[in-house]
Amino acid sequence: MAQDMTRITKVLVAGGGIGGLCTAIGLLRKGVAVDLVEIKPQNTPLGVGIIQPANALRALDDLGVMDKCLAVGFQVDEWRYFEADGTHLHTFKSMRLAGPEIPAYNAVARPVLAAILLDTAQALGVNIRFGVQIDDFVETDKGIDVTLSNGEQGRYDFIVGSEGIRSPLRRRLFGDGYEPEYLGHSVWRVNAQRPPDLTYQPMFWGVGSKAGLIPLSDSTMYLLLVTDEPGNPFYEESLRYDLLKERLQQFGGYIGEVRDNMRPDDNIVYTPVEEVRLPSPWFKGRVLLIGDAAHAGGPHLSQGAAMAIEDAVVLSELVEKRLSVPDMFVQFMERRFERCRFIQDTTRAVGEAGRSSDPEVCATRNANFKNMQHNVPRPHEGVLAQRP
Ligand SMILES: Cc1cc2nc3c(=O)[nH]c(=O)nc-3n(C[C@H](O)[C@H](O)[C@H](O)COP(=O)(O)OP(=O)(O)OC[C@H]3O[C@@H](n4cnc5c(N)ncnc54)[C@H](O)[C@@H]3O)c2cc1C
Repeated sequence: MAQDMTRITKVLVAGGGIGGLCTAIGLLRKGVAVDLVEIKPQNTPLGVGIIQPANALRALDDLGVMDKCLAVGFQVDEWRYFEADGTHLHTFKSMRLAGPEIPAYNAVARPVLAAILLDTAQALGVNIRFGVQIDDFVETDKGIDVTLSNGEQGRYDFIVGSEGIRSPLRRRLFGDGYEPEYLGHSVWRVNAQRPPDLTYQPMFWGVGSKAGLIPLSDSTMYLLLVTDEPGNPFYEESLRYDLLKERLQQFGGYIGEVRDNMRPDDNIVYTPVEEVRLPSPWFKGRVLLIGDAAHAGGPHLSQGAAMAIEDAVVLSELVEKRLSVPDMFVQFMERRFERCRFIQDTTRAVGEAGRSSDPEVCATRNANFKNMQHNVPRPHEGVLAQRP
């Protein structure tokens, strides 16, 4: 009898990004009914590509979607670091956490990933509403009664807020003291043709900026450039081609080739790097925040979405334990807070290392890279090797 009282039967997920769709998939696989509301009128993720490091692949495997991601992505095992002119400094061979046969990184186009996650959630029976958000909710001793912006009403065991970095639920629950903080730098991304011998992820450490290439398929890759942008300027799309070319001037090697082959009509995505550090706990009553809504960070370790996917896996493991909602959320925080905070701190440190515009500091940094032992995993991977 006590077990039935704590059985989770129906959950509302707010936000149909990577974290929300993965949460829906995880809960549906445990037999929980899931309604999902996504404020956008359709499934149209912005952005270029996304790297799925080994811990993300392991979590996607738990959700039953890793193979679909691998089938449409490009896999590599290494980050290789270079001077801005293309001189090789160091190679890290990353850890294969998803199994000995699965390379350490998969990279996929964001729209392709979104389609895989949506198709999977729909095949499992998610009840999804596009162009809809939560209007209001009231907690009772039986659950949480929600009114949606389309007038629909429903009762749920709990709500998962996966609305991303500007989450209205976060504001409603915790006030406006946790808005995204701009970290002073931004990322430029553009698709390009992949040279056949680019079978790793290269990163070029420049002065004041760093540039990398991420293979996405046999024929495509994307370029990323991280630059200091004081004051968080907004650049019209029409200006980005000239601005990006100018900012890539110091780079040689593959990066220089991409720069020289860019065309004015290329779709250049420009994203300011922002962070959200919500203190523990990330829940109030029957509403739990996950993903960027609770712990957004920079892209320097490719771990933002990975952490959101792990959140989804942990939550779907916990619903099986037949705990009360408060106890379940407490256990969720015990498994998630320190790990996500560690990733945010490490990401910040890596971001800072790439930003210096002092040539001497950059030369010392690059010399340190050169002197590292080749093909040892990156330092944070020891922590990520542990399951969340
Ligand atoms: C430049 C850049 C590069 C990155 N590269 C990587 C990478 O390679 N690997 C990686 O793991 N991570 C990467 N990240 C981080 C990653 O993109 C995020 O961490 C991830 O998308 C977070 O997922 P989410 O579901 O929490 O939020 P989102 O993906 O932002 O999804 C939130 C969803 O909620 C919807 N929404 C918003 N408000 C409401 C509302 N009120 N009601 C209903 N729906 C709402 C939004 O429309 C959106 O669809 C990168 C980030 C940046 C900025």
